[in-house]
Amino acid sequence: MILIVDDTPENLISLKRVLERHNFEVDTASSGEEALKKVLKNEYVLIILDVQMPGMDGFEVAEAISGYSKARETAIIFLSAVNKELKFITKGYSSGGLDYITKPVDMDILLLKVKTFYRIYEQSRKLIEIQKALLDEIEYRKQAEHKKDEFISIASHELKTPLTSVKGYMQLLGRSVEKGDIPTVKKHLEKAQIQLEKLNELIADLLDISKIESGKLKFNKKCFSIDELLDSVIDIIRQTNPEFNILRKEKIGLEVYADEMRIEQVIINFLTNAIKYSPGTSEIKINVNVIGEKVYVGVRDFGIGIAPDQQKSVFDKFYRVEETAIHFQGLGIGLFISAEIIKRHGGEVGVKSTPGEGSEFYFILPINSGAETD
Ligand code: ADP
Repeated sequence: MILIVDDTPENLISLKRVLERHNFEVDTASSGEEALKKVLKNEYVLIILDVQMPGMDGFEVAEAISGYSKARETAIIFLSAVNKELKFITKGYSSGGLDYITKPVDMDILLLKVKTFYRIYEQSRKLIEIQKALLDEIEYRKQAEHKKDEFISIASHELKTPLTSVKGYMQLLGRSVEKGDIPTVKKHLEKAQIQLEKLNELIADLLDISKIESGKLKFNKKCFSIDELLDSVIDIIRQTNPEFNILRKEKIGLEVYADEMRIEQVIINFLTNAIKYSPGTSEIKINVNVIGEKVYVGVRDFGIGIAPDQQKSVFDKFYRVEETAIHFQGLGIGLFISAEIIKRHGGEVGVKSTPGEGSEFYFILPINSGAETD
C-alpha cells in the first residue's frame, strides 16, 4: 500500500486518483502527525511525502519514521514545490528519503518511480524470505547434527552395556562348567540370554530406523484377531515383568487387516514404556474400543506422566524428555518407529498424560488398512 501525505486536499485527491487508476492501493494522511499514527498501525511499501506542511514538515516525519521497525522496508519520495535548492534536496535524502520530486509533479515520471520502488520492495521481500528460510534450514541441520551425535554416543553406550554383561556371564559360565556346577551354568545362561535379547531388540530398532529413513519399511498385511494378539502380547510382557498386573476390558471380537508383527511391536513398545516409566506402580490398563471403521488401542499407566508441552515431541526421532532421561535408559526411537508403523497403516498415534498421574499412549487403526503390502 502507498501512503500519500499532503496538507492540500486537492493534491491528495488527484494523486490518489492517478495511482488508484493504475491499480495501486492508496491511503492518505493530511498532516505529518496523522501520517506517523498510520505508519505505526499499517505497513506501507512507499510513502509520498509533501515537504511543506504546517506542524511537522516532511523531513521531520521521515526522520521519525526511520526509527520505526515497521517501516524499515518502506521507501519515501519527497514532493516539494518550494525547496528546490540543493541543500533541501540533500536534507531530503539524509532524513531517509529515497527520491525527491519537485512540483508540479510529472505524473508519468512519478508512476515510473512508484513502479520501480514496488519492484525493489518485492525483490527485497523475497530476498528476506529466502534468507530466513536458509537460516531456518541451517539451524534445523545444526540441531539434527547435534541430535545425531548425541544419539551415536547414547547408542554405543546402550549397545555396550548388554555386551559387557554377556562377556561377564560367559566368563562365569566357563568357571561353572569347569566346576560341573549345572544349576549355576543354567542361571548364567539365562542371564546371558536376557542380555542378548536386549542387544537383539536394540539392533532391530536401529535397523528399523534405517529402513524408515530409506523408505524400505515393508508391511506384510493379513487378517488377524486383535483379541488374540493382545492375549499373546500380555503373555510375553507378564513373563518378563511378573510383578505387573495388566488389566484389559472384555474382548471385542474384531479382525483387522494389517501387519500383525508390526502392530505387535507397537503394543509391546507402549507396554514396555508403560512399565519403564512407572516405577513404584504395578498396574497397567489396556483399553480397546471400536470407533466406526477404526479400532482404538490404548495403554494406560500410572507412572511419571509427561508435561503438556513435551507430549507432542515424544513421537519425534531421538526425542527423550530431558528431565527424566537421566533416570531411564533409552534411545528415544521406539515411539518414532511406532508412530511410523501406525501412520503407514493410515492410522494415528497420540498420548494423553498428566505429570505425576500417568499416561495413556494410544493408536487408532483402520480396521481395513488397505491392500498395499509395502
Ligand atoms: P526411549 O524410551 O528409548 O527413550 P521412546 O521413543 O520409547 O524412547 O520414548 C521417547 C520418550 O518419551 C522417552 O524418553 C520418555 O521421556 C517418554 N515416554 C515414553 N513413554 C512414556 C510413558 N509411558 N510415561 C512417561 N514418559 C514416556
